[in-house]
Amino acid sequence: MALLEIDRELCIGCEACIEACAFGALSLDDQEIVVVNDNCTACGACIDECPVEALRLPGAEEPLVVTENLGDYQGVWFWVEQFEGRASSISWEMAGKGRELADELGTTLTACVLGSGVGEAAQEAIAYGADRVFLVDDVTLTHYRTDPYAAVMVDLARRYKPEIIIMGASSRGRDLAGSVATQLVTGLTADCTSLDIDSETRLLRQTRPAFGGNIMATILCPNHRPQMATVRHRVFEVPAKDTARQGQIVSEQALLPEDEIASRVIDFIVSEEDVNLADARIIVSGGRGVKGPEGFEPLRELAQVLGGAVGSSRAAVDAGWIPYAHQVGQTGRTVRPDLYIACGISGAIQHLAGMRTAKVIVAINRDPEALIFSVAHYGIVGDLFEIVPQLTKAFRKKLDR
Ligand SMILES: Cc1cc2nc3c(=O)[nH]c(=O)nc-3n(C[C@H](O)[C@H](O)[C@H](O)COP(=O)(O)OP(=O)(O)OC[C@H]3O[C@@H](n4cnc5c(N)ncnc54)[C@H](O)[C@@H]3O)c2cc1C
Repeated sequence: MALLEIDRELCIGCEACIEACAFGALSLDDQEIVVVNDNCTACGACIDECPVEALRLPGAEEPLVVTENLGDYQGVWFWVEQFEGRASSISWEMAGKGRELADELGTTLTACVLGSGVGEAAQEAIAYGADRVFLVDDVTLTHYRTDPYAAVMVDLARRYKPEIIIMGASSRGRDLAGSVATQLVTGLTADCTSLDIDSETRLLRQTRPAFGGNIMATILCPNHRPQMATVRHRVFEVPAKDTARQGQIVSEQALLPEDEIASRVIDFIVSEEDVNLADARIIVSGGRGVKGPEGFEPLRELAQVLGGAVGSSRAAVDAGWIPYAHQVGQTGRTVRPDLYIACGISGAIQHLAGMRTAKVIVAINRDPEALIFSVAHYGIVGDLFEIVPQLTKAFRKKLDR
């Protein structure tokens, strides 16, 4: 449902708002008065353009609630995501970037380690760059659940006032960051592809794709603290581990007793097709050009010979040829393998957003004009059904597999 309200008495039908709308949400009706359709995203771009103040977003005029005493907020924090006590690599990617941000701001880096039996992860956080670790080791935190994790993070943030909190944009990281930001009444930029510090304002510059991946938007959070962002897997590198590094471990308490937590973890069921694109060093990816589910078979063979994983474009996922877990791109996984072989993928911007930082990209496409060739280090123009089996044969021989 459209959120924008139009005062039909005031509207003069000048069309200024229609030109300002990037979503095609506004038009004139037969009485030359503006009407809004469901494309409206409530972005507000039209409101400033209206010369007669005929447009409003309900609630938008309410006074902005800002964080008081912004200067009290110091330090960069990152959340250490773990499963059964083992931290995931995305946590250390956050450690590396967090260290950079903290050094630029001349402040400290703090890791938040929540779980049960997670002392080792706390030590590792220091080895990866943290100056201080908040360690909350409690049986209620054994498995990730939103309520107890968010309660701890919110409590720590209220008491210790960090200026920045970053988390990996994994399923859990996205969930936790959203809950924490909402409770702290601060901003959150999801799925950032770059983070840096504005040298003049010292604000966190949070950059991510916007408008369907067609532009990169840099977002600031000037009036609220902490500034919060999530970052996808493999956008940043894991820094070198230095086990000789020293840091402070501060033990803190879990806040919610078990009987106050709404959810219970009953069981974990491993998905039938175990695909871990995020950690794969080699990915052989297929798009609409593979023509059907069976078209992925030669790609699977090549991936198997190379010891890699199979990825796909959204077109192949939408067609039901391969499960979503394989999708690479803006609405799928961001990957950063050593080698990405794109087979029958045109190279739409939303796909490139998820794989363009691969170290070596090989594109196989029968269309020499395909956009994928603009990012590929090596391009093969031809039919993937001829080329992929030849590559498999050659690698099998070379690698003796
Ligand atoms: C909001 C939004 C989010 C999106 N998110 C994603 C995302 O996360 N990931 C993603 O991939 N897309 C995403 N898309 C979709 C994206 O815009 C493209 O539609 C999609 O990537 C196209 O997939 P494709 O390259 O497989 O198909 P196509 O664009 O149809 O390309 C198929 C290619 O195969 C080649 N080909 C055909 N037959 C052969 C053959 N025998 N041998 C060799 N080459 C052959 C053709 O020349 C062509 O270049 C998103 C779109 C939107 C609007």
